[in-house]
Amino acid sequence: MNLLIGIFIFILGLAVGSFLNVCIYRLPLKKSIIFPPSHCPKCGNKIRAYDNIPLLSYIILGGKCRFCKEQISIIYPAVELLSGLIFLSLFLLYGLSWELASKIFLFTSLMVIFFIDLKYQLIPDVITLPGIAVGLVFSLLSKSPSFLDSVIGIISGGGLFYLVALAGDKIFKKESMGGGDIKLAAMLGAFLGWQKILLVFFLASLLGALVGIIFLILSPRLRENRLIPFGPFLAIATAICIFFGNSLVELYLNLFFHI
Ligand SMILES: [Zn+2]
Repeated sequence: MNLLIGIFIFILGLAVGSFLNVCIYRLPLKKSIIFPPSHCPKCGNKIRAYDNIPLLSYIILGGKCRFCKEQISIIYPAVELLSGLIFLSLFLLYGLSWELASKIFLFTSLMVIFFIDLKYQLIPDVITLPGIAVGLVFSLLSKSPSFLDSVIGIISGGGLFYLVALAGDKIFKKESMGGGDIKLAAMLGAFLGWQKILLVFFLASLLGALVGIIFLILSPRLRENRLIPFGPFLAIATAICIFFGNSLVELYLNLFFHI
């Protein structure tokens, strides 16, 4: 029975991933995510329902448009597969529960934010602002985090990033962290509670610093004005925190209390 539900959730994840692709492509361009239906960006031909099966269609068509043979980006099936795998992993972690629904909402939002921020250095308010409210509502329905932890999470997540942004502006004399990051941190606080948002912030900074250093070594010219978006690091840090959070805390305790 669990196997059947697992397969269903995986397929649901693939289908949702297909919708996430539409969001990733259209939200930054301020286009409607419902109308018009999907079409090839080159020849404009409508994508038929039988060519719009997540993952499978891409493989069957060899990654090309049926009509003009334009190459379709590998990002599309990759997002679908990633979405399916995340849905399945969350199901294995939480079973059928409010926690599962809450984390699915969180991770679908984060996938869209990840790719949009990477490409446009922009985190859409249309995701994060409703996201704060949705996270708060889920805290009422699910066991963890509690409503209070969620409220403190919003304030501490948003507040912490606001302070970092202020400090960054003073030190670098230019905008170092956008308002989008602050709202995303508040949303993460709502979904994770204040304890985990602190861990996420620490992990994301660590990852960001590591990648920043690698970039500097590989290409010193990037130093000048390249702003590395912070949203993707927050998304990865959240995934690490959800899937490996307990092992991390154990590792931390072992390191400091067993030497
Ligand atoms: Zn085409």
